[in-house]
Amino acid sequence: MKVIKFGGSSLASGTQFKKVLDIIRADKERRIVVVSAPGKRCETDRKVTDLLIEAGNDFLEKKELNEICFTDLLARYSGIAEELQLGEKIITEIKADLLMRLTSDFTSPLHYMDRVKAAGEDNNARLMAAYLYNEGIEARYMSPLEAGLLVSNEPGNAQVLQESYRNLEALRNLSGILVFPGFFGFSQEGETVTFPRSGSDITGAVLANAVHAEVYENYTDVDAVYAVNPFTVKEPKEIKELTYREMRELSYAGFSVLHDEALIPAFRAGIPVHIKNTNNPCAPGTHIVSSRLNTNGPVVGIASDAGFCSIYISKYLMNRELGFGRRILQILEDFNISYEHSPSGIDDISIILKQSQMDSRTEERIINRMYEELKADEVKIEKDIALIMVVGEGMRQNVGTTARASRALAAASVNIEMINQGSSEVSMMFGVKEVDEQKAVRALYQEFFAEIPVC
Ligand code: ASP
Repeated sequence: MKVIKFGGSSLASGTQFKKVLDIIRADKERRIVVVSAPGKRCETDRKVTDLLIEAGNDFLEKKELNEICFTDLLARYSGIAEELQLGEKIITEIKADLLMRLTSDFTSPLHYMDRVKAAGEDNNARLMAAYLYNEGIEARYMSPLEAGLLVSNEPGNAQVLQESYRNLEALRNLSGILVFPGFFGFSQEGETVTFPRSGSDITGAVLANAVHAEVYENYTDVDAVYAVNPFTVKEPKEIKELTYREMRELSYAGFSVLHDEALIPAFRAGIPVHIKNTNNPCAPGTHIVSSRLNTNGPVVGIASDAGFCSIYISKYLMNRELGFGRRILQILEDFNISYEHSPSGIDDISIILKQSQMDSRTEERIINRMYEELKADEVKIEKDIALIMVVGEGMRQNVGTTARASRALAAASVNIEMINQGSSEVSMMFGVKEVDEQKAVRALYQEFFAEIPVC
Protein backbone atom coordinates (compact mmCIF):
# COMPACT_ATOMS: atom_id res chain seq x y z
CA MET A 1 0.00 0.00 0.00
CA LYS A 2 1.02 3.59 -0.54
CA VAL A 3 0.69 6.55 1.77
CA ILE A 4 0.16 9.79 -0.11
CA LYS A 5 0.33 13.27 1.31
CA PHE A 6 -0.96 16.45 -0.28
CA GLY A 7 0.38 19.86 0.66
CA GLY A 8 -1.66 23.04 1.09
CA SER A 9 -1.37 24.31 -2.48
CA SER A 10 -2.61 20.91 -3.72
CA LEU A 11 -5.77 21.42 -1.67
CA ALA A 12 -6.34 25.14 -2.00
CA SER A 13 -9.53 24.95 -4.10
CA GLY A 14 -12.17 22.60 -5.47
CA THR A 15 -10.21 22.39 -8.71
CA GLN A 16 -7.21 21.09 -6.76
CA PHE A 17 -9.39 18.54 -4.94
CA LYS A 18 -10.43 17.18 -8.35
CA LYS A 19 -6.78 16.63 -9.28
CA VAL A 20 -6.31 14.75 -6.01
CA LEU A 21 -9.29 12.55 -6.85
CA ASP A 22 -7.71 11.66 -10.21
CA ILE A 23 -4.43 10.79 -8.53
CA ILE A 24 -6.15 8.54 -5.99
CA ARG A 25 -8.20 6.84 -8.71
CA ALA A 26 -5.11 6.17 -10.82
CA ASP A 27 -3.65 3.65 -8.34
CA LYS A 28 -5.62 1.43 -5.99
CA GLU A 29 -2.60 1.04 -3.72
CA ARG A 30 -2.97 4.68 -2.66
CA ARG A 31 -4.86 3.84 0.49
CA ILE A 32 -3.92 6.40 3.12
CA VAL A 33 -4.32 10.03 2.14
CA VAL A 34 -2.78 12.67 4.41
CA VAL A 35 -3.95 16.23 3.91
CA SER A 36 -2.65 19.67 4.83
CA ALA A 37 -4.89 22.65 5.42
CA PRO A 38 -5.92 24.65 2.32
CA GLY A 39 -2.93 26.72 1.22
CA LYS A 40 -2.55 29.72 -1.05
CA ARG A 41 -4.53 29.85 -4.30
CA CYS A 42 -2.25 32.57 -5.62
CA GLU A 43 0.79 34.52 -4.44
CA THR A 44 -1.27 37.18 -2.61
CA ASP A 45 -3.58 34.67 -0.91
CA ARG A 46 -3.29 33.54 2.71
CA LYS A 47 -2.93 30.01 4.03
CA VAL A 48 -5.76 28.75 6.22
CA THR A 49 -3.21 27.97 8.97
CA ASP A 50 -2.06 31.61 8.94
CA LEU A 51 -5.68 32.79 9.19
CA LEU A 52 -6.24 30.43 12.10
CA ILE A 53 -3.15 31.73 13.88
CA GLU A 54 -4.36 35.30 13.46
CA ALA A 55 -7.86 34.42 14.67
CA GLY A 56 -6.48 32.49 17.65
CA ASN A 57 -4.06 35.21 18.70
CA ASP A 58 -6.80 37.82 18.43
CA PHE A 59 -9.10 35.78 20.61
CA LEU A 60 -6.39 35.35 23.23
CA GLU A 61 -5.75 39.07 23.23
CA LYS A 62 -9.27 40.54 23.00
CA LYS A 63 -11.40 37.63 24.23
CA GLU A 64 -13.68 38.06 21.28
CA LEU A 65 -13.96 36.48 17.89
CA ASN A 66 -12.26 38.20 14.98
CA GLU A 67 -15.30 38.20 12.69
CA ILE A 68 -13.34 39.10 9.56
CA CYS A 69 -10.93 36.23 10.03
CA PHE A 70 -13.73 33.85 10.87
CA THR A 71 -15.66 34.80 7.72
CA ASP A 72 -12.50 34.37 5.61
CA LEU A 73 -11.84 30.98 7.14
CA LEU A 74 -15.32 29.73 6.56
CA ALA A 75 -15.27 31.11 3.01
CA ARG A 76 -12.21 28.99 2.23
CA TYR A 77 -13.99 25.77 3.17
CA SER A 78 -17.40 26.71 1.77
CA GLY A 79 -15.75 27.79 -1.50
CA ILE A 80 -14.29 24.31 -1.90
CA ALA A 81 -17.51 22.58 -0.81
CA GLU A 82 -19.61 24.64 -3.23
CA GLU A 83 -17.28 24.02 -6.15
CA LEU A 84 -17.51 20.30 -5.43
CA GLN A 85 -21.26 20.42 -4.77
CA LEU A 86 -21.00 18.81 -1.38
CA GLY A 87 -24.13 20.41 0.08
CA GLU A 88 -24.74 22.49 3.20
CA LYS A 89 -24.32 19.87 5.92
CA ILE A 90 -20.55 19.66 5.82
CA ILE A 91 -20.23 23.44 5.91
CA THR A 92 -22.49 23.67 8.94
CA GLU A 93 -20.31 21.08 10.66
CA ILE A 94 -17.08 22.89 9.78
CA LYS A 95 -18.52 26.19 10.96
CA ALA A 96 -19.48 24.66 14.31
CA ASP A 97 -16.05 23.08 14.68
CA LEU A 98 -14.19 26.33 13.95
CA LEU A 99 -16.38 28.24 16.36
CA MET A 100 -15.99 25.60 19.06
CA ARG A 101 -12.17 25.65 18.79
CA LEU A 102 -11.81 29.41 18.56
CA THR A 103 -13.93 29.99 21.65
CA SER A 104 -12.58 27.03 23.62
CA ASP A 105 -10.76 27.05 26.95
CA PHE A 106 -7.61 29.20 26.81
CA THR A 107 -6.20 28.67 30.28
CA SER A 108 -3.21 27.15 28.52
CA PRO A 109 -2.71 29.54 25.57
CA LEU A 110 -0.23 27.25 23.81
CA HIS A 111 -2.64 24.32 23.87
CA TYR A 112 -5.46 26.62 22.83
CA MET A 113 -3.41 27.74 19.82
CA ASP A 114 -2.62 24.16 18.83
CA ARG A 115 -6.32 23.24 19.02
CA VAL A 116 -7.05 26.18 16.73
CA LYS A 117 -4.20 25.50 14.28
CA ALA A 118 -5.16 21.83 13.95
CA ALA A 119 -8.60 22.90 12.67
CA GLY A 120 -7.03 23.60 9.27
CA GLU A 121 -6.07 20.01 8.53
CA ASP A 122 -8.85 18.36 10.53
CA ASN A 123 -11.64 20.06 8.61
CA ASN A 124 -9.87 19.63 5.31
CA ALA A 125 -9.66 15.90 5.93
CA ARG A 126 -13.39 15.79 6.64
CA LEU A 127 -14.01 17.74 3.45
CA MET A 128 -11.80 15.45 1.38
CA ALA A 129 -13.41 12.31 2.82
CA ALA A 130 -16.88 13.69 2.03
CA TYR A 131 -15.80 14.54 -1.50
CA LEU A 132 -14.24 11.14 -2.22
CA TYR A 133 -17.31 9.42 -0.79
CA ASN A 134 -19.55 11.58 -2.95
CA GLU A 135 -17.55 10.47 -5.97
CA GLY A 136 -18.30 6.83 -5.19
CA ILE A 137 -15.05 5.96 -3.42
CA GLU A 138 -15.12 3.97 -0.19
CA ALA A 139 -13.39 6.67 1.83
CA ARG A 140 -13.62 7.92 5.36
CA TYR A 141 -12.08 10.44 7.69
CA MET A 142 -9.68 8.96 10.24
CA SER A 143 -9.16 10.82 13.47
CA PRO A 144 -5.57 10.85 14.80
CA LEU A 145 -7.07 10.34 18.28
CA GLU A 146 -8.96 7.22 17.23
CA ALA A 147 -5.97 5.94 15.27
CA GLY A 148 -3.63 6.47 18.24
CA LEU A 149 -1.20 9.07 16.90
CA LEU A 150 0.34 9.97 20.24
CA VAL A 151 2.86 12.78 20.51
CA SER A 152 4.89 14.53 23.18
CA ASN A 153 3.12 17.34 24.99
CA GLU A 154 5.20 20.11 23.39
CA PRO A 155 2.78 22.55 21.77
CA GLY A 156 3.84 23.54 18.27
CA ASN A 157 6.82 21.24 18.47
CA ALA A 158 5.43 17.75 19.04
CA GLN A 159 7.47 14.61 18.61
CA VAL A 160 5.92 11.27 17.83
CA LEU A 161 5.84 8.79 20.71
CA GLN A 162 7.09 5.30 19.95
CA GLU A 163 3.81 3.56 20.77
CA SER A 164 2.11 5.46 17.95
CA TYR A 165 3.77 3.18 15.44
CA ARG A 166 2.17 0.11 17.01
CA ASN A 167 -1.23 1.80 17.20
CA LEU A 168 -1.13 3.06 13.63
CA GLU A 169 -0.08 -0.28 12.20
CA ALA A 170 -3.68 -1.44 12.63
CA LEU A 171 -4.74 0.99 9.87
CA ARG A 172 -3.25 -1.48 7.40
CA ASN A 173 -6.15 -3.81 7.94
CA LEU A 174 -8.94 -1.30 7.40
CA SER A 175 -10.70 -1.39 4.07
CA GLY A 176 -11.19 1.54 1.72
CA ILE A 177 -9.35 4.83 1.70
CA LEU A 178 -8.52 6.60 4.92
CA VAL A 179 -8.25 10.36 4.90
CA PHE A 180 -5.95 11.40 7.71
CA PRO A 181 -5.39 15.03 8.78
CA GLY A 182 -1.72 15.98 8.90
CA PHE A 183 0.13 18.27 11.30
CA PHE A 184 -1.14 17.13 14.72
CA GLY A 185 -1.56 14.29 17.15
CA PHE A 186 -2.67 13.91 20.73
CA SER A 187 -0.73 13.95 23.97
CA GLN A 188 -1.16 11.21 26.58
CA GLU A 189 -3.41 13.70 28.41
CA GLY A 190 -5.66 13.97 25.36
CA GLU A 191 -4.57 17.47 24.27
CA THR A 192 -4.29 18.32 20.59
CA VAL A 193 -0.62 19.05 19.91
CA THR A 194 0.81 20.17 16.57
CA PHE A 195 4.12 19.47 14.89
CA PRO A 196 6.26 22.41 13.77
CA ARG A 197 4.97 24.34 10.75
CA SER A 198 4.72 22.24 7.57
CA GLY A 199 4.44 19.22 9.83
CA SER A 200 1.90 17.32 7.74
CA ASP A 201 4.92 15.85 5.99
CA ILE A 202 5.85 14.27 9.33
CA THR A 203 2.37 12.72 9.74
CA GLY A 204 2.70 11.13 6.29
CA ALA A 205 6.14 9.71 7.04
CA VAL A 206 5.04 8.30 10.40
CA LEU A 207 2.03 6.62 8.81
CA ALA A 208 4.17 5.23 5.98
CA ASN A 209 6.50 3.72 8.55
CA ALA A 210 3.71 2.33 10.74
CA VAL A 211 1.78 0.62 7.95
CA HIS A 212 4.97 -0.55 6.15
CA ALA A 213 4.02 1.34 3.02
CA GLU A 214 5.70 0.42 -0.23
CA VAL A 215 6.29 4.11 -0.89
CA TYR A 216 5.49 7.49 0.66
CA GLU A 217 4.30 9.80 -2.09
CA ASN A 218 4.49 13.45 -1.18
CA TYR A 219 2.53 15.68 -3.58
CA THR A 220 3.45 19.31 -3.85
CA ASP A 221 3.40 22.03 -6.52
CA VAL A 222 6.77 21.58 -8.21
CA ASP A 223 7.88 18.93 -10.70
CA ALA A 224 10.91 17.93 -8.65
CA VAL A 225 13.32 18.99 -5.97
CA TYR A 226 15.66 21.46 -7.66
CA ALA A 227 19.40 21.66 -7.15
CA VAL A 228 18.98 25.21 -5.92
CA ASN A 229 16.13 27.59 -5.13
CA PRO A 230 14.47 28.58 -8.46
CA PHE A 231 14.05 32.13 -7.11
CA THR A 232 17.82 32.45 -6.99
CA VAL A 233 18.77 30.66 -10.19
CA LYS A 234 16.52 30.50 -13.23
CA GLU A 235 15.48 26.99 -14.31
CA PRO A 236 17.82 25.08 -12.04
CA LYS A 237 18.62 21.45 -12.56
CA GLU A 238 15.98 18.98 -11.36
CA ILE A 239 17.21 16.30 -8.99
CA LYS A 240 16.03 12.84 -10.01
CA GLU A 241 17.34 10.96 -7.01
CA LEU A 242 18.57 11.90 -3.55
CA THR A 243 19.53 9.98 -0.46
CA TYR A 244 17.64 10.53 2.79
CA ARG A 245 20.71 12.17 4.27
CA GLU A 246 21.10 14.56 1.36
CA MET A 247 17.44 15.53 1.47
CA ARG A 248 17.52 16.02 5.23
CA GLU A 249 20.52 18.34 4.93
CA LEU A 250 18.87 20.33 2.14
CA SER A 251 15.51 20.54 3.93
CA TYR A 252 17.15 21.61 7.13
CA ALA A 253 19.11 24.30 5.33
CA GLY A 254 16.21 25.92 3.54
CA PHE A 255 14.61 23.65 0.94
CA SER A 256 10.94 23.88 1.79
CA VAL A 257 9.75 20.98 -0.39
CA LEU A 258 9.81 18.51 2.50
CA HIS A 259 10.00 19.00 6.26
CA ASP A 260 13.43 17.93 7.50
CA GLU A 261 11.89 15.84 10.30
CA ALA A 262 9.86 13.84 7.78
CA LEU A 263 12.79 11.81 6.52
CA ILE A 264 13.76 9.83 9.59
CA PRO A 265 10.53 7.81 10.02
CA ALA A 266 10.66 6.83 6.35
CA PHE A 267 14.40 6.17 6.47
CA ARG A 268 14.13 3.93 9.54
CA ALA A 269 11.66 1.68 7.78
CA GLY A 270 13.53 1.90 4.46
CA ILE A 271 10.50 3.39 2.72
CA PRO A 272 11.32 5.36 -0.42
CA VAL A 273 9.88 8.87 -0.57
CA HIS A 274 8.66 10.14 -3.91
CA ILE A 275 8.13 13.88 -4.36
CA LYS A 276 5.55 14.57 -7.04
CA ASN A 277 3.57 17.42 -8.52
CA THR A 278 -0.22 17.43 -8.07
CA ASN A 279 -0.50 19.79 -11.05
CA ASN A 280 1.65 17.57 -13.26
CA PRO A 281 1.46 14.03 -11.90
CA CYS A 282 3.10 12.57 -15.00
CA ALA A 283 6.39 14.34 -14.26
CA PRO A 284 8.88 11.80 -12.87
CA GLY A 285 9.45 13.78 -9.65
CA THR A 286 12.28 13.15 -7.21
CA HIS A 287 12.99 9.83 -5.51
CA ILE A 288 14.50 9.84 -2.03
CA VAL A 289 16.25 6.56 -1.35
CA SER A 290 18.83 4.90 0.92
CA SER A 291 21.67 4.95 -1.56
CA ARG A 292 22.25 6.09 -5.11
CA LEU A 293 24.97 6.05 -7.71
CA ASN A 294 26.92 9.28 -7.63
CA THR A 295 26.69 9.99 -11.30
CA ASN A 296 26.31 13.73 -11.21
CA GLY A 297 29.46 14.96 -9.51
CA PRO A 298 30.16 15.59 -5.86
CA VAL A 299 27.36 18.05 -5.22
CA VAL A 300 23.65 17.32 -5.55
CA GLY A 301 22.14 20.54 -4.24
CA ILE A 302 22.85 23.91 -2.64
CA ALA A 303 20.56 25.35 0.02
CA SER A 304 20.73 28.54 1.98
CA ASP A 305 18.94 30.15 4.85
CA ALA A 306 19.27 33.58 6.42
CA GLY A 307 18.55 34.85 9.94
CA PHE A 308 21.45 33.38 11.90
CA CYS A 309 23.88 34.98 14.28
CA SER A 310 27.14 33.87 15.74
CA ILE A 311 28.38 34.24 19.30
CA TYR A 312 32.15 34.43 19.09
CA ILE A 313 33.98 33.58 22.32
CA SER A 314 37.72 33.73 22.62
CA LYS A 315 39.92 32.84 25.57
CA TYR A 316 43.62 32.09 25.60
CA LEU A 317 44.23 28.39 26.41
CA MET A 318 40.57 27.52 25.98
CA ASN A 319 41.70 24.14 24.65
CA ARG A 320 43.22 23.27 28.06
CA GLU A 321 40.18 24.21 30.10
CA LEU A 322 37.99 21.30 31.18
CA GLY A 323 34.25 21.76 30.70
CA PHE A 324 34.50 25.04 28.77
CA GLY A 325 32.10 23.93 26.03
CA ARG A 326 29.64 22.54 28.55
CA ARG A 327 29.54 25.81 30.44
CA ILE A 328 28.90 27.80 27.24
CA LEU A 329 26.02 25.53 26.34
CA GLN A 330 24.67 25.63 29.90
CA ILE A 331 24.35 29.40 29.65
CA LEU A 332 22.42 29.04 26.40
CA GLU A 333 20.24 26.31 27.89
CA ASP A 334 19.38 28.58 30.80
CA PHE A 335 17.94 30.99 28.24
CA ASN A 336 16.15 28.15 26.43
CA ILE A 337 18.27 28.73 23.35
CA SER A 338 19.27 25.96 20.97
CA TYR A 339 22.26 26.16 18.67
CA GLU A 340 22.89 24.89 15.16
CA HIS A 341 26.69 24.64 14.73
CA SER A 342 29.81 25.37 16.69
CA PRO A 343 33.01 25.66 14.65
CA SER A 344 35.98 26.07 16.95
CA GLY A 345 39.72 26.81 17.08
CA ILE A 346 42.36 26.45 19.82
CA ASP A 347 41.48 29.62 21.66
CA ASP A 348 38.07 30.41 20.26
CA ILE A 349 34.69 29.01 19.40
CA SER A 350 31.68 30.33 17.50
CA ILE A 351 28.18 29.26 18.35
CA ILE A 352 25.78 29.66 15.45
CA LEU A 353 22.13 30.01 16.29
CA LYS A 354 18.84 31.30 14.94
CA GLN A 355 18.80 35.05 15.53
CA SER A 356 15.04 35.08 16.27
CA GLN A 357 15.73 33.29 19.58
CA MET A 358 17.43 36.35 21.12
CA ASP A 359 16.21 39.87 21.74
CA SER A 360 18.66 42.62 22.69
CA ARG A 361 18.05 42.17 26.43
CA THR A 362 18.82 38.41 26.23
CA GLU A 363 21.87 39.16 24.13
CA GLU A 364 23.24 41.51 26.76
CA ARG A 365 22.61 39.05 29.58
CA ILE A 366 24.28 36.21 27.68
CA ILE A 367 27.36 38.30 26.92
CA ASN A 368 27.64 39.37 30.57
CA ARG A 369 27.37 35.83 31.83
CA MET A 370 29.99 34.65 29.36
CA TYR A 371 32.44 37.26 30.55
CA GLU A 372 31.70 36.56 34.21
CA GLU A 373 31.40 32.79 34.26
CA LEU A 374 33.81 31.81 31.50
CA LYS A 375 36.28 34.65 32.12
CA ALA A 376 36.37 34.99 28.35
CA ASP A 377 38.83 37.45 26.77
CA GLU A 378 36.33 38.48 24.14
CA VAL A 379 32.66 37.79 23.44
CA LYS A 380 30.93 39.32 20.47
CA ILE A 381 27.75 38.66 18.57
CA GLU A 382 27.74 38.93 14.84
CA LYS A 383 24.33 39.18 13.22
CA ASP A 384 22.66 38.77 9.83
CA ILE A 385 24.51 35.68 8.77
CA ALA A 386 23.30 33.35 6.05
CA LEU A 387 24.29 29.71 6.06
CA ILE A 388 24.90 28.06 2.73
CA MET A 389 24.89 24.30 2.62
CA VAL A 390 26.58 22.49 -0.23
CA VAL A 391 25.25 18.94 -0.13
CA GLY A 392 26.21 15.67 -1.79
CA GLU A 393 27.20 12.16 -0.71
CA GLY A 394 29.70 12.22 -3.59
CA MET A 395 31.90 14.70 -1.70
CA ARG A 396 33.27 11.82 0.34
CA GLN A 397 34.95 10.29 -2.70
CA ASN A 398 35.95 13.51 -4.43
CA VAL A 399 39.09 15.47 -3.73
CA GLY A 400 39.02 19.25 -3.86
CA THR A 401 35.32 20.05 -3.44
CA THR A 402 35.98 22.54 -0.62
CA ALA A 403 38.72 24.16 -2.68
CA ARG A 404 36.37 24.51 -5.66
CA ALA A 405 33.65 26.02 -3.47
CA SER A 406 35.92 28.53 -1.76
CA ARG A 407 37.55 29.50 -5.05
CA ALA A 408 34.10 30.15 -6.55
CA LEU A 409 33.14 32.31 -3.57
CA ALA A 410 36.40 34.23 -3.73
CA ALA A 411 35.93 34.88 -7.46
CA ALA A 412 32.49 36.31 -6.68
CA SER A 413 34.07 38.54 -3.96
CA VAL A 414 32.12 36.83 -1.20
CA ASN A 415 33.87 36.86 2.13
CA ILE A 416 33.53 33.53 3.96
CA GLU A 417 32.78 34.19 7.63
CA MET A 418 33.08 30.54 8.58
CA ILE A 419 33.34 27.06 7.15
CA ASN A 420 32.05 23.90 8.75
CA GLN A 421 32.31 20.50 7.19
CA GLY A 422 30.24 18.00 9.12
CA SER A 423 31.98 14.79 10.10
CA SER A 424 29.57 12.92 7.84
CA GLU A 425 30.99 14.64 4.76
CA VAL A 426 27.52 14.85 3.28
CA SER A 427 27.51 18.61 3.53
CA MET A 428 29.76 21.59 3.74
CA MET A 429 28.55 24.78 5.33
CA PHE A 430 29.62 28.31 4.56
CA GLY A 431 28.60 31.25 6.70
CA VAL A 432 28.43 34.50 4.76
CA LYS A 433 26.88 37.92 5.35
CA GLU A 434 23.20 37.94 4.47
CA VAL A 435 23.77 40.59 1.80
CA ASP A 436 26.04 38.15 -0.04
CA GLU A 437 23.70 35.15 0.20
CA GLN A 438 22.23 35.20 -3.32
CA LYS A 439 25.55 36.04 -4.93
CA ALA A 440 27.24 33.20 -3.10
CA VAL A 441 24.59 30.63 -4.02
CA ARG A 442 24.75 31.63 -7.68
CA ALA A 443 28.54 31.38 -7.70
CA LEU A 444 28.44 27.90 -6.16
CA TYR A 445 25.74 26.77 -8.54
CA GLN A 446 27.80 28.03 -11.46
CA GLU A 447 30.79 26.09 -10.17
CA PHE A 448 29.07 22.76 -9.61
CA PHE A 449 26.33 22.79 -12.24
CA ALA A 450 28.12 24.89 -14.86
CA GLU A 451 26.28 23.79 -17.99
CA ILE A 452 23.08 25.49 -16.81
CA PRO A 453 22.86 29.26 -17.55
CA VAL A 454 22.64 31.35 -14.39
CA CYS A 455 20.36 34.39 -14.31
N1 ASP B 1 -0.87 23.70 7.62
C1 ASP B 1 0.33 23.64 8.37
C2 ASP B 1 1.26 24.79 7.97
O1 ASP B 1 0.89 25.63 7.16
C3 ASP B 1 1.01 22.31 8.27
C4 ASP B 1 1.29 21.82 6.87
O2 ASP B 1 0.81 22.38 5.90
O3 ASP B 1 2.01 20.85 6.74
O4 ASP B 1 2.34 24.89 8.48
